Amino acid sequence: MWNENYYECPDVIVFSDLDGSLLEPITYSFKSALPGLKFLRERNIIPVFASSKTASEISIVQEESGCKGPLICENGGAIVERKDRQNSVIKAFGRPRKSWLSKLHQLRDDLAVSFRGFSDWSISDLRKQTGLSELAARAAQARHFSEPIIWEDSDTMLDHFRIELERINLVAIEGGQFLSIQSEYDKGKATRWWQSHQNESSPVIIALGDGPNDKSMLSAADIAVVIKSPKSHFLNIKGPRRVIYTANTGPEGWTEGLIEALFTVNCHSSISLKSA
Ligand SMILES: [Mg+2]
Repeated sequence: MWNENYYECPDVIVFSDLDGSLLEPITYSFKSALPGLKFLRERNIIPVFASSKTASEISIVQEESGCKGPLICENGGAIVERKDRQNSVIKAFGRPRKSWLSKLHQLRDDLAVSFRGFSDWSISDLRKQTGLSELAARAAQARHFSEPIIWEDSDTMLDHFRIELERINLVAIEGGQFLSIQSEYDKGKATRWWQSHQNESSPVIIALGDGPNDKSMLSAADIAVVIKSPKSHFLNIKGPRRVIYTANTGPEGWTEGLIEALFTVNCHSSISLKSA
């Protein structure tokens, strides 16, 4: 059983992906993550959500899970704080979507490739595609840095498309369900910036994720938790002191990996982790 005196926690920052990690991939439920969230609450740790979702979508999850605080949205596009029901950008890493979206559509026409993205869909199309509620779908459309797409062409044309994307300074990053078109940034860049702006001298960084868009964030952590998913076995994480691969998927795996990571931290002080 948990014992307050025994498990004295060093400074810890927890970064967590949402879809397929804290949230079930289909139902978006975090019920199985409740034991893990309780574990964090008992240690006064508020997890920082880092997701491909928009700031508005993440703030809904924050409210429902009781994890309010700054967040990392759109795959690391910005660090945002919600104040008085408004999103306020602390630091932006991505080029504004409105500055390049028409170039992306032009490229689709020029190459005659086939894909569909959020900007092609109505709210009702998006709901059919994702299973999101109306409120969540509207929040998902409030994008500022990225355009998630579904690729509907060949792998060869995708390779060609990626090369042409680079010419307009954009990249395609693979997530759980979508390819995210965005400028060159990632979750790792945002989490490293966050870490360097904390008051604590050397907090232990725990990161949890399940997909290719989490690789940079997991690699930048002291302890990485790779949550089992259809794409997690492709993730080759190098850099952390410890990489935990969960046996369970989704929020169940999230709780499993988080508790194991926190036990690891309690067994080794932050100083020994950093100086080893
Ligand atoms: Mg995910």
